[in-house]
This record gives sequence, C-alpha cells and structure tokens, in this order.
Amino acid sequence: MKGKTVKIVRRRRVLPLVLLVGLAFVSVLATEFFVASIVMNMQKNDNLAETEAFLEVPEDVLPSINMSFKKVTDGGENIDVEVPEKHGIIYLTFDDGPGPYTNILLDILKHYGVRATFFVTGSGDDAVLLREYEEGHAIGLHTFSHQYSYIYRNVDNFINDLVKVQERVKRVTGQTTMLMRFPGGSSNTISTRYDGGKRIMSRLVDEVEKRGFVYFDWNIVSGDAGETTKTEEVYTNVVNKLGDGEYIVLQHDVKDFSVAAVEKIIQYGYEHGYDFATLNAESFNAHHGVNN
Ligand SMILES: [Zn+2]
Repeated sequence: MKGKTVKIVRRRRVLPLVLLVGLAFVSVLATEFFVASIVMNMQKNDNLAETEAFLEVPEDVLPSINMSFKKVTDGGENIDVEVPEKHGIIYLTFDDGPGPYTNILLDILKHYGVRATFFVTGSGDDAVLLREYEEGHAIGLHTFSHQYSYIYRNVDNFINDLVKVQERVKRVTGQTTMLMRFPGGSSNTISTRYDGGKRIMSRLVDEVEKRGFVYFDWNIVSGDAGETTKTEEVYTNVVNKLGDGEYIVLQHDVKDFSVAAVEKIIQYGYEHGYDFATLNAESFNAHHGVNN
C-alpha cells in the first residue's frame, strides 16, 4: 500500500515536468529553425555577393585559358554541343631516380593530380621509391647500375642488372613491374663501344621481349640530358612539340632545372586540353629504331 501511494504522488509531479520539458524542446527546435534560416539567408547573400564580385572582374584580369572547342553532333537529334577539344595525352616520364629532387617533383604532381611514370635505378632512397608507388605513379625499370660499360657489354650483364632493379622495386613496393626503358633508349649507339660490334641492342630488344618486358622510348625530348640546363628551355622543348596525339616526354628527376619545368608543363597541358596518364603494358608506346 505504501508503495502505491508514493507512485501516485510521483505521477502528479511528473506530468507538469513532462509538459515543461516538451515546451522547452519545442522552443529549442523553433529557435534552431529560426537561426538556421537566418544563416541560410546569409549564405545566399554571400554567394550572391561572390557571384556579383566575379562578374565585375574585367575580362583582361581573368586567366587567359586558350581553350579550343569542337562541335559534337548527336546522330539522331542533331544537337550541337560545344565541348573542350582534347588534343591528346601526355605521359610524363622521369629516368635515373629516385634522386634528391624527386620528393619536390612528387609534391608538384600531387598538387595537380598528375600521375607520371618513373624509370628507376638502384639509386636514391627506398622511401621515395615507395612514395612514387603509393601515390599512384607507374614504376618502370632502367637497370640497377645504369653503367653503359657494364650493361651493354653483353646480354647476361644487361639482364642481371635489369632483374636486380626489378627485385629492388619488388622488395620496396611489393610489385613486380615489367615496364622498362633502356639507358640511352633502344636507338642508342653508345652501346656499340662496349659489345665489340655484336649488335647488342638488337639482341637485347629480342631478349627483353622474350622475357615479357615491355620497353618504352619517347617521342618528346626535353633536352635535359645534355642539350640544356635551363628550365625555360626544357619547358619550351616540351610544349613546342605537342600537337594532336599521344606524347611520351623524357625527363630526368635527378636534374633540378628539369624538375623545375614540370609545373609549367602541367599548367600548359591542362590549359590546352591534354590529359596526363601513366604508361602501362597496353598503353600508347613510342619505339625508336634499333641501330645496332
Ligand atoms: Zn638514364
């Protein structure tokens, strides 16, 4: 009996309490809605102000993007749509690293969302090689030693050195890559100095292809291998060669002046309707003629 009485008393006290809490809840909701609508209006006004400010910018202050357009006609409806014309694809490639400037280069590539292809050697830090891989760049092989006098002496030397760098990449990244580039390119004739005139490049091309490697040369020379040490010239050497098509650009990430040209090359590429992509076994390729 005692317990029951207590219960009734509690209910009488609880009912006004529930009403109070309910009222408080409703008023909080109303206040929040009110505040939210004010904030939304403020944002609308902000957006409007931004739009107006944008429209007020004189045309000559706006970035002059040289975007060209082509007409796409829908077969059935004959609807003309103006879309930016894509001139092609740029495959940025960097040989001889990782090196002291590779991290700077990786920062630039990351900033612009560009992925490149690195043909690596035995040099540089494993951590930088791992970063290249983890940030989505393609890793190719460029021999471990890059010593012409050793790798171009005979086929065995070359294959051993190639497999050695392949094992490095596997150890660091976990990936077995079959992409490769010959030091000096497949058309190099320096190799004739070291093999005693036995047509080493012809035999190497056959051998690497027999083993399933895919080798890449290039169709745009940046000039950073000896022709120039000027960033501006690296830039113009690259962009002046671009037309409609696909382009494998040769650069070296062990050269600071060459790495310094990359940002402007990327900006030019984007402004002129190019995409950037990594090389792979099925992608576009550029092969030089073998000369020996
Ligand atoms: Zn090289």
